[in-house]
Formats: sequence, C-alpha cells, structure tokens
Amino acid sequence: MIPPFCPNPVCPHHKADSASFPIFRFYTRIGFYLTAVVGLVERFKCKSCGRSFSERTFSIDYYTKKNLDNREIFRSIGEGESVSSISRHLQCSLNSIRNRLDRLGRASIALHASLTSGLSLS
Ligand SMILES: [Zn+2]
Repeated sequence: MIPPFCPNPVCPHHKADSASFPIFRFYTRIGFYLTAVVGLVERFKCKSCGRSFSERTFSIDYYTKKNLDNREIFRSIGEGESVSSISRHLQCSLNSIRNRLDRLGRASIALHASLTSGLSLS
C-alpha cells in the first residue's frame, strides 16, 4: 500500500502534489501491528511532520471494530430496506449500520465534490 498523502492537515504533504508524489516518498515504513478485525496492518511515519498513520487511516472502515459489507448496506438502503432490517440481516447493531451509512454518505459527498470541482456553468 502506498499512502496517498499525510493525514496531518497542517503538514505540507497533506495534499500530495501529483507531479512530485512518485519521485519523493514523504513517508517511511515503521512496521506492522496486529488487529482483531483485519490482521496485520502496516504503519507509516511522515518524514516532514513526524505523524504516524496506518493503511487503515485511508480506508472507509477506519477505526471500525467489525467488517460489514458496505455494498450490501448501500444496495439494501437503495431498495428501501429499513436500518433495523439491515442490522438483522447483517447480524450487527443499529448503530453499526448508522455509522456505515454516515461513512458512505461522507464518501459520496467527497466524490461528488471531487468530480464536479472542475465543472463550470455556462
Ligand atoms: Zn506529514
């Protein structure tokens, strides 16, 4: 996994310059740690600000304690299934489904903003 940018918002490498990114590696690999959810996770450290982060930092499942099928949640909510029905179907709590819906919503908003940033109205 190659970290796309430093997660520290005040670091100069927070928004990686796509032209210099492949040439300059702003991070160092500092090892792995074991999680109960996904097993071994690699850790990195920014050479500029010193902040450490992991490959999970850039995942939609960052800091979750259980893996859920986000595609199934997205499909179910799109078909009008209730949150409680989805939680029964996936055998998890209501709050876990609400949390994933929040994450999917934020990711969708970010994708929409990214895709429409270069558009202009005539
Ligand atoms: Zn940094």
